[in-house]
Amino acid sequence: MKVWFVGAGPGDPDLLTVKARRLLEGCQICIYAGSLVSPEVVGVTPDECELHDSAGMTLEEIEAVVVDAQQRDIDVVRLHTGDPSIYGAIREQMNVFDRLSVAYEVVPGVSSFQAAAAALKAELTVPEISQTVILSRTSGRTPMPKKQALEHLARTESTLCLFLSVHKLDEVALELADFYGAECPIGVVYRASWPDQQVIVGTLSDIAAKVREAGFTKTAMIVVGQALSRDLPVSKLYHRHFSHGYRQADKDGEETSE
Ligand code: SAH
Repeated sequence: MKVWFVGAGPGDPDLLTVKARRLLEGCQICIYAGSLVSPEVVGVTPDECELHDSAGMTLEEIEAVVVDAQQRDIDVVRLHTGDPSIYGAIREQMNVFDRLSVAYEVVPGVSSFQAAAAALKAELTVPEISQTVILSRTSGRTPMPKKQALEHLARTESTLCLFLSVHKLDEVALELADFYGAECPIGVVYRASWPDQQVIVGTLSDIAAKVREAGFTKTAMIVVGQALSRDLPVSKLYHRHFSHGYRQADKDGEETSE
């Protein structure tokens, strides 16, 4: 018997990995994060599958479902939105399973920051502009560690992907404008890859008003940085004087990214 932590991806069931789909199709017991996992993805489980929505469950209740499955020797799929390693609160569950001597494995998923980048048709890493992507959030009920406050991250002018933060977009945009400039591009993607996906693009100065008008306050990804500009330097990758493992030019040793 095993618990499978499975990444449900951002919403579109076609964005499940082959392994995730296989596990869901054969699943008899599934605990899913009902607040975020799309019904279409949960719908991949067979009709007879026993479903538990973790949105209304305590850790002890999750434990009880797993103990019951252990006694019946049935695998459990623990379905987390996007990729389980990002704001998935999986560590505390793993600690419980360790105590119960229940084996577990993790199946990665497409994270919502990737689905948002796809919706924005954005490259998050652009030569000489941003070679770093930061996945972070603003403080909510979970405080931010002091050294990771938005102002410290913003100083790096990296591409920022902010989870769990759209309800504070006014504050976030204002704070970021001091570092990225008020005209820096920003994209906000509501329910990336869902049928009702919405993409709003703007600048740090006008995005809050646009999103307020659209009226969404959760399940949205914020992407900020000059990398979102359309008019940027071209990568060396396809340049005729740039050689790499698959194409010879004059001289070069740098590893290529593609
Ligand atoms: N593990 C998830 C993140 C869970 S935290 C992942 O890898 O994507 C929940 C936050 O993720 C939401 O507040 C929102 O910021 C973001 N999110 C999750 N699904 C989303 C989607 N389909 N579109 C946009 N943002 C999403």
